[in-house]
Amino acid sequence: MSDSQQIPHTQIDQQVTCSNCAACCCQLEVMLITDTGVPERFIDSDQWGGEVMRRLDDGWCAALDRDSMRCTIYEVRPLICREFEMGSPECLEERRGINTIYR
Ligand code: SF4
Ligand code: SF4
Repeated sequence: MSDSQQIPHTQIDQQVTCSNCAACCCQLEVMLITDTGVPERFIDSDQWGGEVMRRLDDGWCAALDRDSMRCTIYEVRPLICREFEMGSPECLEERRGINTIYR
């Protein structure tokens, strides 16, 4: 039997919190619309020249610690990351995309 835990998708399954998630939302494109102090090495430009968070080839944000699945620049994380609401429809949609807790 596998000991991997499944990510709950709805409030009915179990409480939706970031601690039972795989940082699913940290695979989304994050535009930098204000300067919060993100280090240069994590900044890339998109095809229109706008600043975005750099992502690795597998799609995850370069600022994500892959062992703990926590943001390594939490104090200076972009505005979009601050506003992404846990439990929102967007959050639930992202959780649906990944079934197993990534640890
Ligand atoms: S905001 Fe939602 S998708 Fe992002 S880490 Fe938290 S629970 Fe997961
Ligand atoms: S900056 Fe941090 S919170 Fe935002 S996508 Fe990257 S790892 Fe996730």
